[in-house]
Order: sequence, then C-alpha cells, then structure tokens
Amino acid sequence: MGQDIINKIDLSLFNAKAQSLSVDGVIRLALDEIAQNAVFTTSFGPEDQVITHFISEKKLSVDLVTLDTGRLFNETHETFEKTFKKYNSTVKVLFPEAHDVETYVAKSGINGFYNSVELRKECCNIRKIKPLERGLNGYGIWITGLRADQSENRSHMNFFEWDKRFNIVKVNPLLNWTFKQVMDFIDDNFIPYNLLHDKGFVSIGCAPCTRAIQEGEDFRAGRWWWETSKKECGLHQS
Ligand code: SF4
Repeated sequence: MGQDIINKIDLSLFNAKAQSLSVDGVIRLALDEIAQNAVFTTSFGPEDQVITHFISEKKLSVDLVTLDTGRLFNETHETFEKTFKKYNSTVKVLFPEAHDVETYVAKSGINGFYNSVELRKECCNIRKIKPLERGLNGYGIWITGLRADQSENRSHMNFFEWDKRFNIVKVNPLLNWTFKQVMDFIDDNFIPYNLLHDKGFVSIGCAPCTRAIQEGEDFRAGRWWWETSKKECGLHQS
C-alpha cells in the first residue's frame, strides 16, 4: 500500500477507535478497514508472545514471521520451539544473506559490532533490516508488539502509524499495556516465554548485544550497553 492511499485514510480515526478495543479488536479493525494482508513479526519476547496468543486463539488471518540473525540466544530458540508446539503455528523464519554476513565478518571481524556504532548498525542492517524488508514485502499491515512505555523513543507512538521506512501501516495493539500486564497475561494463560526473563533480562535481542539489567535501569539498558545511542536497531524508528 502506498503513501498516496494512506493519505486518503485518516489514521487518527483508527487511533481514536482503537482506544476502546481489545488486542484482537485492534487487529480486526486493521484487517477489516485497512488491508487484509497482514504480517506479524515476532522475536518471541513477552509482548510478541501475547500477540501470538491472540492471533492463534482468535484465528486471525495474520502471517507470522521471525528474523533469525544467527546470533540469537539458545533460550530464544527454545521459546520458538515451545510456541510452535503450543499453538501449532507456522512461523516463517528469515535469515540474513550468507554473502552479506561473510563479507562483513571478513572485513570487520566476527564481533566487529563492538568497535563502533557504524559497524554495529551495519551488522543490524545485514542481519535484521534487510531480512525484515523481505519479510514485509507484499503486505499492507505490519503488526508489532511495541509498547509506549518501553523507551523514550516509543512513548509517542500510536496504535496505527505510517512507517515511512518500510512503506507500510504499522499496528501496535499492545500500545498501552504495562510490562506487568504482559507478564500477568502470560502467567494466566500458560504462554511460553523466554527463560532469560527470569535472570534479569528484559528486552532480548542477539546474545552478544544483550545483557541483564539492574533494578531501576531503563527497559532498553541491556541492549548495546556499551553505546550511548538511542538503543534501537532500525527496525522500529518511532
Ligand atoms: S544486535 Fe548485535 S549481533 Fe545482532 S544484528 Fe545487531 S549488532 Fe549484529
């Protein structure tokens, strides 16, 4: 769907409607009134697990996609396995292009991302952004598990947004949920979750770039902890 079509759809109307809707209600609104081809990108974080639960239990017509960067924690793969078994769901896995990774490693080293922000972003571009571009291609709606209180960058988000970078309507059904609500929902519904969350990890990405956080630290403090950047990899630029 192009920007010209989106300009004809006033997303503020959808944002107003979404305020009173449930998680599946927000997704249904998107499917019924914006586009029927929707994709949900999951990294098997707790928020993503809640959305997977709604999509599976409510039988919503949404494709599931995940990015395997090649540097994930084993615990993340275990969560993937458990989720696959619980919901009997099909998740399309997107890997980075082998040639891109080989060239990067030859030039910058296997852990070159520690050496500069530019090299870190180049690695994220190869292992995440480019596969994501392939994953979103052909879809009109991109569903995410983002929440407004995850970071300062995300505090101004809406339920429905136009993502300029990927030219797609981004839908954030968990926008106003707190982390406690998410974890309570997971407990109440016996949803599998990444066991690293029991060891102080909050936001979990690639193994070499994620660490546990201390009480009182920012939600994203464990991501690229050696940097003072905005703690985003470019997937979500809100
Ligand atoms: S999070 Fe780290 S290992 Fe993963 S893609 Fe980004 S720089 Fe590379």
